[in-house]
Amino acid sequence: MAAATLVVSLIMSGLTFWAVNTIQQDARLSDTRFGSDLGLLLAANVAPLVGEDNRTELARFSHRFYSSTSSVRYMLYADADGNIFFGIPFSDSEVQNSLSIRRRIQLPENFAEHYDLPLVRQHLTPDGEVTDVFVPLLYEGKYLGALAIGTNPNPTAVASSHLTRDVTIAVFVSIWVMVILGAVFNALQITKPIKELVVGVKNIAKGNFQQRVDLPVGGGIELGELIASFNEMAERLERYEKQNIEELTAEKAKLETLVSTIADGAVLLDTHLQIVLVNPTARRIFGWEGKAIEGTNALYSFPVAVQVELSRPLHQVARGELREEAEFRVTFTEPTNRTIRILLNTVLDPSREIIKGIAVTVQDITREVELNEAKSQFISNVSHELRTPLFNIKSFIETLYEYGEDLSEAERQEFLETANRETDRLTRLVNDVLDLSRLESCKVYHFEAVDLAQPIEQILRTYQLNAKDKGIELLQEIEPDLPSVVGHYDLLLQVFANLVGNALKFTEAGGKVVIRASLVSGPEGGLAKVVRVEIADTGIGIDPEDQAAIFERFFRVENRVHTLEGTGLGLSIVRNIVQRHRSHVCLVSEVGVGTTFWFDLAVYQDEPTIALPSTEPAALAQQ
Ligand code: ADP
Repeated sequence: MAAATLVVSLIMSGLTFWAVNTIQQDARLSDTRFGSDLGLLLAANVAPLVGEDNRTELARFSHRFYSSTSSVRYMLYADADGNIFFGIPFSDSEVQNSLSIRRRIQLPENFAEHYDLPLVRQHLTPDGEVTDVFVPLLYEGKYLGALAIGTNPNPTAVASSHLTRDVTIAVFVSIWVMVILGAVFNALQITKPIKELVVGVKNIAKGNFQQRVDLPVGGGIELGELIASFNEMAERLERYEKQNIEELTAEKAKLETLVSTIADGAVLLDTHLQIVLVNPTARRIFGWEGKAIEGTNALYSFPVAVQVELSRPLHQVARGELREEAEFRVTFTEPTNRTIRILLNTVLDPSREIIKGIAVTVQDITREVELNEAKSQFISNVSHELRTPLFNIKSFIETLYEYGEDLSEAERQEFLETANRETDRLTRLVNDVLDLSRLESCKVYHFEAVDLAQPIEQILRTYQLNAKDKGIELLQEIEPDLPSVVGHYDLLLQVFANLVGNALKFTEAGGKVVIRASLVSGPEGGLAKVVRVEIADTGIGIDPEDQAAIFERFFRVENRVHTLEGTGLGLSIVRNIVQRHRSHVCLVSEVGVGTTFWFDLAVYQDEPTIALPSTEPAALAQQ
């Protein structure tokens, strides 16, 4: 732009200079013409005077001529040799002096012969260009000398010489001023709005739909319309985006709620195997609670066993080599002991061709596995438990049948008693299984007032002999005037039987088993009182890590620790019965010290309202 302006300004200035200069040339030409005409006229008048050597008349005439015109700057007369013999505006003395020092006019060779016409030249003075005219003085065909006359420059030409410069500069400057003004106007009215428009379009392309462009003042109708259309478009896009975002946010919230509430763990990975989304279940399973796990590589974040199992399949899924659902089962010990089932699914784009990510579904099957193991254990236990008494019964009856007559009466009696005991044991086992299934069914039990002293007394009678045999002290501590409770006699009897049976089973000789019943404050220290029942022993105790599991069906610590008889159903039955009484059973135990199981029962009122015992489990409590 600047270069173009410079070129144009230089061309325009040059043209102006040339035009004005041409005018000046013309003025100068007219100067020379005027000078030569004046010289010829003067020469024609003075030649006779010079020829007659009438210098006085010559001087007078010359003075008169000089003073009558302002155009003449000087007048000099030279003889044929070029020596100046008279000049104006020089004084006589000066002439004298000049004559005495013999000033000369340097004329070209044969000036007289060859220059009939005057010789004209110009020289520059501070007042302008002076035109020097040399005219030969001829009289009667004889060359007498030369007349030199200097004429002042034409004042118009003098003025025009400044004009050339001024006009040239003015043209140059005005072009620049016009260009600068034009550029400023352009910048303010067109370039700025267009630049803003360009920035706006870029921002819209980036997704910033809040972008607007200000309308320029007086910037042209087309530009104004363009900007108005742009703003309208941006506004529509913004509205559309807002609506879309609201819909998307609602959808996202729904999906997030769904993902966060499902029981299975869900982890979403991108194709670089980086974790994008994790639901709370997955966090709990993998021990990621409170960790910023999103954005990390799943293969470094999963527990080591999972990393080993999934490394290859995950890469295969990410590369698209494995498209169908893949299932894995992994057991790991860190951060906790767990067995999980993992399902891998590819997340595809709507065209179902490009892989967008990998959905990892995690199911915690630890409990399922444990229960399955416990069930297998139970079946083998039950089979064993059933087989042992059946085998004993069969062998004793066979012996009696085959050799009965050879046996003494006492022996026959003993055999029958043993067979009878084994039948009881078999019945107990079958009953346990049946009881549990009945308790877990929807059967409705009728509750009534039960005086706890009676079932406790009955249990003591049943187990006293057993306790004595084992050398264990079996006691009861029942608070006097204990009110009746809301309960089911037979079910409560079974609870006492199971708990006292366990207490005797797991207590060494010399130990003590106590059944206590007392009146205590109800739940949350309310006014209603409840009866607390405790069965305490001084037995082997239960390890804290087993306390949570012993109420599960089929669970037996002995499966791992010792091999005392049992089915693992006793405490499940107890828990079910106590729950039927709208209470829960708790325990306090210390290995090597003893165990106390306890539960609360609502006091029976005439209008039986059941005061629910505390729902706040104690530190070691189990429901
Ligand atoms: P079982 O028929 O095998 O006794 P239970 O359900 O009654 O089954 O008991 C489950 C497990 O709880 C037992 O195997 C035992 O390890 C433990 N247990 C129950 N009562 C006691 C107790 N009083 N002292 C120590 N351990 C006990």
